[in-house]
Amino acid sequence: MSSPHQTLLNRILTENLKNVLKSIESTCLRCHRDPSEVKLIAVTKYAPLEAVRELNRIGLRTYGENRPQQLVERAQTLTEDSEWSPAEWHLIGQLQRNKVRLVLPHVALIHSIDSVQLLSQIDRIAEETGASASVLLQVNTSGEESKSGFPPELLLEQWERVCSFNNVQLCGLMTMAPLTEETKTVRSTFSELQKIQTDLNSTGRHPPLTELSMGMSRDYEIAIEEGATIIRLGSILFEGTAEL
Ligand SMILES: *Cc1c(COP(=O)(O)O)cnc(C)c1O
Repeated sequence: MSSPHQTLLNRILTENLKNVLKSIESTCLRCHRDPSEVKLIAVTKYAPLEAVRELNRIGLRTYGENRPQQLVERAQTLTEDSEWSPAEWHLIGQLQRNKVRLVLPHVALIHSIDSVQLLSQIDRIAEETGASASVLLQVNTSGEESKSGFPPELLLEQWERVCSFNNVQLCGLMTMAPLTEETKTVRSTFSELQKIQTDLNSTGRHPPLTELSMGMSRDYEIAIEEGATIIRLGSILFEGTAEL
């Protein structure tokens, strides 16, 4: 039986999701892309567990969490729900080396690899435990000191070493735009990531990086225009649910 509260939550999330999907579709249409090339991740870091349950029921099955501990706790708790449909958990926030062992068995994709040392630790633990490890390299294309990620020059410099780990699947790149109203600046942090992807792929050192994880609630349309294949949306999906 659904409670009135659950019904209302379901209605708001369904409506929000419908609007977001519509806008993804019209953005794709505008820049001649196929909407199926853009994967939507629901960023659930601030959402209560019951809202994640409703999203799962509605059919959105990929979730992004910032903190390894919360990701693991939620993945474990929700898997035990009788109504839960299998889902993917992505880690989008910073990962300390001492949390790799904890999170690796539960995570489908880590977006936030920001050093060779972290990559090396993941490689070692993946080999030891047999867990698969799919990752994105976070690149600080905005150049802001507050942002983590490889500085672009450093990534190019370390590329050969980055490619040398056999137990890690390097799938692509991730970035975050600065918090600004200037769309030109936002757009250039995204287009810079695509340019780095092209540069890295042209070295021929590695199978092509295919994924570009970029775009959040306030800038995902620009990110899609600049080639995003993964967008990470939180607040826009949960709008109106905090007051319930
Ligand atoms: C919180 C967060 C998001 C989602 O942000 P919204 O503005 O709520 O859409 C996306 N990516 C990362 C890395 C985040 O930390």
